[in-house]
Amino acid sequence: MRVLKFGGTSLANPERFSQAGELILQAHLKDQAAAVLSAPAKITNYLVALVDKTNKGEDKQQDLQEAKQIFENILVGLKQRNAKFDDEKLRQTVQQELSQIEHTLSLFSPQTPCPDNINASVISRGEKLSIAIMAGWFEAQGYQVHIVDPVKQLLARGEYLESSVDIEESTKRVNAPAIPKQSVVLMAGFTAGNDKGELMVLGRNGSDYSAAVLAACLRADCCEIWTDVDGVYTCDPRLVPDARLLETMSYQEAMELSYFGAKVIHPRTIAPIAQFNIPCLIKNTGNPSAPGTLIDGNVRSETLQVKGITNLNDVVMFNVSGPGMQGMVGMAARVFDTMSKAGISVILITQSSSEYSISFCVPKKSASKAKSALKRTFATELASGALDEIEIIDDLAIISVVGDGMRKSRGIAAKFLTALAQANVNIVAIAQGSSERSISTVVPQNKAIEGVKATHRALFNSQQSLRVFLIGAGGVGSELLDQIAHQQQFLADKNIAIRVCGIANSKKVLLNVDGLDLSNWREDLANAKESFSIRRVIDAVQDQHVLNPILVDCTSNQEIADSYLHFLNAGFHVVTPNKKANTSSLAYYHQLRAAALNNQRLFLYDTNVGAGLPVIENLQNLLAAGDEVEVFDGILSGSLSFIFGELEQGKSLSEVTRLAKEKGFTEPDPRDDLSGQDVARKLLILARESGLELELSDIEVEGVLPKDFAKGKSTAEFMAMLPELDAEFAKRVKAAQDEGKVLRYVGQIKQGKCKVAIKAVDAEDPLYKVKNGENALAFYTRYYSPIPLLLRGYGAGNNVTAAGIFADILRTLRR
Ligand code: ADP
Ligand code: ASP
Ligand code: MG
Repeated sequence: MRVLKFGGTSLANPERFSQAGELILQAHLKDQAAAVLSAPAKITNYLVALVDKTNKGEDKQQDLQEAKQIFENILVGLKQRNAKFDDEKLRQTVQQELSQIEHTLSLFSPQTPCPDNINASVISRGEKLSIAIMAGWFEAQGYQVHIVDPVKQLLARGEYLESSVDIEESTKRVNAPAIPKQSVVLMAGFTAGNDKGELMVLGRNGSDYSAAVLAACLRADCCEIWTDVDGVYTCDPRLVPDARLLETMSYQEAMELSYFGAKVIHPRTIAPIAQFNIPCLIKNTGNPSAPGTLIDGNVRSETLQVKGITNLNDVVMFNVSGPGMQGMVGMAARVFDTMSKAGISVILITQSSSEYSISFCVPKKSASKAKSALKRTFATELASGALDEIEIIDDLAIISVVGDGMRKSRGIAAKFLTALAQANVNIVAIAQGSSERSISTVVPQNKAIEGVKATHRALFNSQQSLRVFLIGAGGVGSELLDQIAHQQQFLADKNIAIRVCGIANSKKVLLNVDGLDLSNWREDLANAKESFSIRRVIDAVQDQHVLNPILVDCTSNQEIADSYLHFLNAGFHVVTPNKKANTSSLAYYHQLRAAALNNQRLFLYDTNVGAGLPVIENLQNLLAAGDEVEVFDGILSGSLSFIFGELEQGKSLSEVTRLAKEKGFTEPDPRDDLSGQDVARKLLILARESGLELELSDIEVEGVLPKDFAKGKSTAEFMAMLPELDAEFAKRVKAAQDEGKVLRYVGQIKQGKCKVAIKAVDAEDPLYKVKNGENALAFYTRYYSPIPLLLRGYGAGNNVTAAGIFADILRTLRR
């Protein structure tokens, strides 16, 4: 005999329902089958809502109607599939059950809330109806059905809403030998009956446990749990899409995984089948040919060391401590005796080795009961001060790593904790199961999902995914998107998935935390409905628990730069060519670094200076190794590099400025380059990086043009006036040439001061040959002296800048 259990999604509609019927039949024709059914998907939730609404005095009609509609849909569909199916009789059954529920609940109200025994009988009604319909379905096909009534035949102990089954007594009552061999056995999941014959439920998700109990009572050959996934995965596949499917696992592993929250099986499912060594298969109703996961008594050494990562939410931690605790004998025993007498299950315990404190976790729903029980037990100690006020930490979750193989391997705990640290998850407590089969951490619930994802990535070396939110889709931003699209395959081969999850311009935003389709992003952004706001981007990431999001700011906007603190605090890495943040006040400059450190995020801006040239990281590496910048000389502007290079060929200032403008080397108004302000910002960034505490106003800037030249004039007027300066410039160029020198527009750091000015340099100077738009940065340091470290190359242009940003984005993987 085989037991097959079908979950809610496997019975959600007529297609699924009849498919479940077919699977039961196939099993039955091979060997007798017993099927345990859950309620069709959503039904139990509606029934729970009916009870809640009764207790709150709210209207219940909509929930009743929607529940009825789900059954109606199934009945109509089954009738279409088999004309012999007696839908009319079953329609009446559904109607009777729902009317009876309505009538029962009408006796209760906020003043006289529905007691647990009534609650249990209401919320389990979906299972009863599933059985009635499945029985009708088999009868229509001419098969005999034997129905096991769990309320009469499974003896339950415990509470009405959370009970366990006595297998020995139930085995007698089910009485396997008396079941006719030709009959298909059907039993409603989720329920059993106490010694008074009252209905008890087994806890939410309890039909898996019902199936295990029936399998044990029948001493079945196999217990199959048919659900909506191909088996047990290393992590909930809804959270981690690249979780691995497990072929096998041991009873102990399955028990621990489900105990710590893997919803795929109810935590009490394993014990009854393990007791009789009955193998359990987890199978997918939607994909019956997939082999599924086999759970049995074998501990296989060759398989994965870690089998899964789970999170268990809605947990509260109690901390019992106090100066008198060291001397008290049997404290732990008293604490846990109190819990057990109050009927509260303790999920996890940690005790400090000094015996000064005991911490333990209980489900949130038991917290207030636990608190009052502890206060009663320790009233004397609390009053005398031997114990401190009991500390209760709320809103916690437990993340656990489970696997038989962990006993023999080292380093798993280290990887687990490192992953949590990298995901910025604060660990409240750590516990290792005595079997060494699991390690658990208690963490804030709002970080549990990030924690699980990060741990899975660390332990299974699964694909590292980068999620980029781009603000600013102009020249550099678009080029970056093109480069990202182009490199997808190259990176995928290295196990890196890079997804662009947000693209924004000043007006609109396109968002999808799973990744946008980049094939048509320009049009998609133009047609986007959502307007852009910083809050919107942060909320999307937090709502969906995106791991390590990266903000890429490709604007030159001050307001966006001012928001980096919010982004870092919300868990984003920040990558940007925008110089505004690093050249705002020193106070903000330091705040950003502190926020990055605190949140374990990176703030990366290598493209602030020299675009794609690897300037900042090299400088940081040198300084970290103890070097010091003594003098810095650099050509930091591509447009001024071009202009001064051309001047040297004998061309006039007005002519070369026009040429640079025509080639698109300058800003639309060339005065923005010629003023030297942009160079001053870059110089300030380098100076601050080298340890100088300077403000932008401390940089001495000598523009290329005389102060106030063409002030208030339009660009065209300015260009028309520019020849007035030609003669003077020609003279300066000539004077330099007479000394064997050329003019360069140089940013210099020397003796703690920064200056931007035109400088005549001789042939020995590393800047002498730098022209045609090239940048050059000469660092004269303690280690690089007298010959400087020279970085030279194009320091502007969409492609090199985007490539530099791309490199910074990839650098976040090293965190
Ligand atoms: P059913 O209605 O069939 O009882 P459930 O929704 O109770 O189905 O359980 C199946 C779900 O369990 C899956 O859809 C999946 O999202 C979730 N789940 C959680 N952890 C795991 C895991 N480690 N492996 C597989 N599924 C998991
Ligand atoms: N239908 C019940 C629930 O939703 C039992 C189950 O599905 O296992 O909790
Ligand atoms: Mg379930």
